[in-house]
Amino acid sequence: MTENIIGIDLGGTMVKIGIVDPKNGILKKDEIETKIELGFERVVERICQKITEIVDISNVRAVGVGSPGSIDHDKGIIKFSPNFPDWNNVPLKAEIEKHLRLSVFIENDANSAALGEKWFGEGKGKDHIVVLTLGTGIGGGVITHGKLLTGNTGIGAELGHMIVDPHGPICGCGNYGCLEAMASATALIRYANEGRKRFPESKIFELEKQRGVLGAREIFDAYRLKDRLATRIFETFVEAMSVGITSIIHIFNPQVVILGGGMSKSADLFIPKIREKVDMRAIPSFLGTFEIVGSKLGNDAGILGAAAIALENL
Ligand SMILES: [Zn+2]
Repeated sequence: MTENIIGIDLGGTMVKIGIVDPKNGILKKDEIETKIELGFERVVERICQKITEIVDISNVRAVGVGSPGSIDHDKGIIKFSPNFPDWNNVPLKAEIEKHLRLSVFIENDANSAALGEKWFGEGKGKDHIVVLTLGTGIGGGVITHGKLLTGNTGIGAELGHMIVDPHGPICGCGNYGCLEAMASATALIRYANEGRKRFPESKIFELEKQRGVLGAREIFDAYRLKDRLATRIFETFVEAMSVGITSIIHIFNPQVVILGGGMSKSADLFIPKIREKVDMRAIPSFLGTFEIVGSKLGNDAGILGAAAIALENL
C-alpha cells in the first residue's frame, strides 16, 4: 500500500500542492491561484481538479490541508479565516473528501508548520517543539510530549498575540504590544515608514527605491550595512522577540524553538542576538536546556506541514 500523502497549503492568493513521501519529502509539487472570488465550492473543485492532473489518486493514502484562521479540526471546518472573509463555518474536509474520496485532515497553518518541523525539519526526533512563523503576522505552534497543543476549542497557541509590552503599538487583534505588533514583517515596515521623515537618508529607502519594494528583507539588509534607522528597528525587533521567547521557554520548556516563515531567511542575523538576550533573562535552571534555530524547510514548509497533519492523524 502506498504511503504517499497530498499536502495542500491553502493561501489567500496561491494554493501550493505537493505529493509527499513520508521518508523522502516532496516528490512533486505545483501551485494554482486560489481565486477566492469564485466562491468556496468552486475553489475546492479547482484544487481537486489540479490534484487529479498531477497525481494518480489511487497511489495516495490521505490528504492534509493547512489553512490560516480558526479551524475546527475534529469537524473539518474553517470557522473563520482572515484570508477568506466570506468563508464562515465552511466544511472544507467534507468537500474535498466528496471530490477525491480520500481521508482529509485540516489544521491551522501555524500548527501545521509545527507538525512539518516535527516530521521533516528541525524538530525531527524531538517531542517538545515550539514554532514561530515570522511573516505578515506571527503564528505559533506548540508540540509537547510529541502532541500538538491545541487547547480547549482548538484555537490555542496564539503565540503571536502574547503581549510583550502593554504600552506598545496596537495590534490587529485590538490589544497593545502583542509580539506580532512589534516583530512581524508588518511591524518592521511600519517602524520604517514612521522613520521616513527623521531618517530620509536611511539605506532602507535606498534599497526600497532600487528594488521597488519595502519589506523585512530591505530592513535587515540595511542593518547589515550598519544603517542607523535599520539598527533601531532591529534592536526593537530583537528585544520583543527575546521577551516573547523567554516566556515561551518558561511556559513550555521546549527542546527547540524554531523560527520559520518568510523572515527566517535572515535568521543567521538575528538568532545569535535573540539568544544572547534570552539567556540573560531565562531562569538559571532553564539555561542550556533549549535551542533556538531557523527553519530549513524554506518555501516547502507549507506543503510539508500540510502533509504532516495527515501523517499525524493516520
Ligand atoms: Zn494581537
